[in-house]
Amino acid sequence: MASPEKRKATDDGRCFNLDWEKDFFFVDSENGPQCLVCRKKLTVYRKFNVRRHFETHHAASFGNLRSPAERDAKLRELKMAKELESTSEVCNYLLFWLKFLRLEVMKIRKQIIVGTGAKIPA
Ligand SMILES: [Zn+2]
Repeated sequence: MASPEKRKATDDGRCFNLDWEKDFFFVDSENGPQCLVCRKKLTVYRKFNVRRHFETHHAASFGNLRSPAERDAKLRELKMAKELESTSEVCNYLLFWLKFLRLEVMKIRKQIIVGTGAKIPA
């Protein structure tokens, strides 16, 4: 009888194949391959799953890119878009914390002004 322990996706020796970048527009990311077109992450490193995702969701849009040069150009474009998106997420995160800190500074300032009896500036 098989062991009831769950296997991790990488226990069977599967890993990201670099050919999937150009063939299916997938990149390796944390915990599995990620589609560069829609950002969906798959949970296992299996060519079957990667190809099925591409053919089901993106073949109509990207299947016409036949030459290696066209696919290279599209791959570079998609990778750059993903990188810009990551940069944008970091910026949004920092802006959130700047706004939060600004509000906290305003609260503390208000408490100090109220404590000293000074007038609160408009
Ligand atoms: Zn996708």
